[in-house]
Amino acid sequence: MLPTKGYAAMTAKTALQPFSFERRDVGPQDVLITITHCGICHSDIHQARDEWGGSIFPMVPGHEIVGTVAHVGSAVTKFKTNDRVGVGCFVDSCRTCAACREGSEQYCEAGMLLTYSGRDKDGQPTQGGYSTQIVVDENYVLRIPSALSPAGAAPLLCAGITTYSPLRHWGVGKYHKLAVVGLGGLGHMAVKIAKAMGTEVTVLSTSEQKRKDAERLGAFEFALTSQPETFTRLQRRFDFILDTVSASHNYNEYVNLLKTDGTMILVGVPDKPTLLEPFPLILHRRRIAGSVIGGIRETQAMLDFCATHKIESDVEVIPVQHVNEAYERVLKGDVRFRFVMDLASLK
Ligand code: NAP
Ligand code: ZN
Ligand code: ZN
Repeated sequence: MLPTKGYAAMTAKTALQPFSFERRDVGPQDVLITITHCGICHSDIHQARDEWGGSIFPMVPGHEIVGTVAHVGSAVTKFKTNDRVGVGCFVDSCRTCAACREGSEQYCEAGMLLTYSGRDKDGQPTQGGYSTQIVVDENYVLRIPSALSPAGAAPLLCAGITTYSPLRHWGVGKYHKLAVVGLGGLGHMAVKIAKAMGTEVTVLSTSEQKRKDAERLGAFEFALTSQPETFTRLQRRFDFILDTVSASHNYNEYVNLLKTDGTMILVGVPDKPTLLEPFPLILHRRRIAGSVIGGIRETQAMLDFCATHKIESDVEVIPVQHVNEAYERVLKGDVRFRFVMDLASLK
């Protein structure tokens, strides 16, 4: 077993604290990764506080992981020592169901094995990237293109793929108008990626102070959702809406902003459900859909796309010791746009 240092939530109600634990030994198919950077996703906060239920404690969160290969197992063919690699939200799946075979492991019929707060085959809880090292099967490891900086690439492993995958799945492109709701970690990646796909992007936000950020990121327009006028002026404007908001809000108002046959895609996970009104959907044959992260092949394609288009996340790099303060700032929307922890601070 490999002694590892990390930061963990010991319960849903306590601040994260230093935590020592063990990683499994490197098996024939495994890659041992020295973690250099890990992003803080809002999902880490939801899970560390058990807001979705089923959290396993102690929990070392973190699924936006970048590092370098320290050692490879005897049968590993895809990676070698010193390669720059990444790990996202899952580290295994059944590999045999239709979803796994087509590269949509995130929809594995047996359930993907989450990078943290999951149970590995041996029954041990998985632990994530707020730690010095991780052991992962090579088939669930991504290659980080050299054009990307390690800190700027880390959030791509969740925020990047979560926004890229639905945009690709629904074929969002040049002739479409897209609204991105919520300009946070996911939202700012959605703006950058959709812009690179040639899409006209409007940001719908609760924060007037993000207007300038939206412009800088390349948004065509910015509108405040606190102003009722936004919902009349933008009626039937969009082909797609990508909703990244982490708190409950009224979906029905947004549905009215879709054209006929438009699609509202939910990726944000609010704490409370919303009542859906049928008429806004029925009268213009609109759809509401959802999407979760992306498969391994698709995540690699997204990383390569970001390297080609020079897209990274806008990050504030912090030592891991500042994680609790960072959680509070994420909840206040006080970060442009992702905290990334420098794991050298744990050595
Ligand atoms: P984040 O950085 O905190 O961004 C969320 C944004 O939502 C905020 O920046 C804010 O944008 C807006 N917002 C927050 N509270 C709001 C409220 N009360 N009313 C309206 N808008 C509000 O979080 P994130 O890391 O991007 O994650 C966003 C959500 O996606 C989380 O629920 C997370 O769990 C979920 N998620 C889902 C997947 C998936 O696969 N589906 C993957 C990763 C994360 P403005 O200031 O612009 O309004
Ligand atoms: Zn995430
Ligand atoms: Zn499967």
